[in-house]
Amino acid sequence: MIIKLTRESVQSDFVKKVEEISGQNLLACYQCGKCSAGCPAVAEMDILPSQIIRLVQLGLEDKIKNFKTMWLCAACNTCAVRCPRGVDLAKIMEAVRQIVLRKNKNYVEPSQLPQELLEELPPIAIISNFRKFTA
Ligand code: SF4
Ligand code: SF4
Repeated sequence: MIIKLTRESVQSDFVKKVEEISGQNLLACYQCGKCSAGCPAVAEMDILPSQIIRLVQLGLEDKIKNFKTMWLCAACNTCAVRCPRGVDLAKIMEAVRQIVLRKNKNYVEPSQLPQELLEELPPIAIISNFRKFTA
């Protein structure tokens, strides 16, 4: 992945908005990877949870939106408990989801799910998608 960094991206409104919504200090993360190492959903993700926070730190909003990791985060808070810097990554994931949803871009449309799938899916999976509809 080629990344072009600019002062504008690192100090962008996107970075400020994630900090505002999540209440987290993004610069507290020093990329130790303990969050990713303990994440129970990491096998299904396309980039690591720690990479999400790195992309946010760098203000790379357009790149983040191409990944599904934030939509697979179950907000279990394992990462927050493991983080040596006290970063609550689940809140950062939620902030990024909210920013995408507020632009009317949905990754999952619950009303479009087939009836058979609705009958098979664990209730928590469906609930988490409705929770992500609260923008
Ligand atoms: S555990 Fe904390 S400091 Fe380490 S990479 Fe994850 S968020 Fe950053
Ligand atoms: S809150 Fe999300 S990113 Fe953190 S450990 Fe749980 S599933 Fe992984």
